[in-house]
Amino acid sequence: MINADPQELAKFSDLAHRWWDPTSEFKPLHAINPLRLDWIEAVLGAGGVGGKRVLDVGCGGGILAEAMARRGALDVLGIDLAQKPLRVAKLHALEAGVGNVEYREVAVEALAAEKPVAFDVITCMEMLEHVPDPSSVVQACAGLVKPGGHVFFSTINRNLKSFAFAIVGAEYVLKLLPKGTHEYAKFIRPSELARACRQAGLQIERTRGMDYNPLTGRYTLGDDTGVNYLFACRKEAP
Ligand code: SAH
Repeated sequence: MINADPQELAKFSDLAHRWWDPTSEFKPLHAINPLRLDWIEAVLGAGGVGGKRVLDVGCGGGILAEAMARRGALDVLGIDLAQKPLRVAKLHALEAGVGNVEYREVAVEALAAEKPVAFDVITCMEMLEHVPDPSSVVQACAGLVKPGGHVFFSTINRNLKSFAFAIVGAEYVLKLLPKGTHEYAKFIRPSELARACRQAGLQIERTRGMDYNPLTGRYTLGDDTGVNYLFACRKEAP
C-alpha cells in the first residue's frame, strides 16, 4: 500500500497552476523559501549545497528544489505523488533554464528501494503533515541519505497554539492559506518526529522554530518550536 492520502494530493494538484505566483495560496512557501534555504546552507557549512547530490521529498511545484539547483547543487531530484505540481515544476525549470534539477513521480519508500544511500542532502519540507505514516517517510529518507549526510524536515507542531495559529489564524483569520489546507490531527510534535528520526538512525543536530508576524507579514527563525519548526538531522556514519 502506498503511503499517501489521495485527497491531500488532489488538493495540491487543484492549485498547481498558481504554484509560482508569489501572491497566490503558495505565498507563504515563497516567503519562507530564502529563510529555510539560508538555514540549510548554514547547517551544511562551507559550500552549502554546492556540488552535492540533493533530493527534495514532496517537492510540489519546485520552489525549494529549483532554488537549491540554482545555488549550485550537483543535481537535485524532486519527487512528489501529485502529478500537476510536478508538471508545473518541470515546466518552470525548463523556462528558467535550470538544467541540474529533475522531477519524478515516485513514492519516497519506492525510491529508497531503488537508490539506497544515493544522496548527500535530503529536504522534506511542509510534507510530513500531509502523509498517513510520517515515520515511514523518515525511515525512507534515512535509507536514501549517505552516511554522514544531512536530512532536513519541517512540519507543524500539535498543540493548542498551533491549532490557533496554523489553522484558525492562517486559514480563517488572515486567510494566508485555503481552508482545509491543514488537518490538526496530522500535526506532529517535535518529540514524535525526534523518536522517528532516532529509530531511523538519524541524529538531530539542530532544531529551529519559525514565526510569522502578521503585522509585518514577515517570517523569522527563532527558538519557539510551538507552531512551525525545522529539524536538521545527520545520518550516523557506520
Ligand atoms: N515541499 C514543498 C511543497 C510543500 S506542499 C515546499 O515546501 O515548497 C506539500 C507537498 O507534499 C505537495 O506537493 C503534495 O503533493 C506533497 N505530498 C503530499 N503527500 C505526499 C506523499 N505521500 N508523497 C509525496 N508527496 C506528497
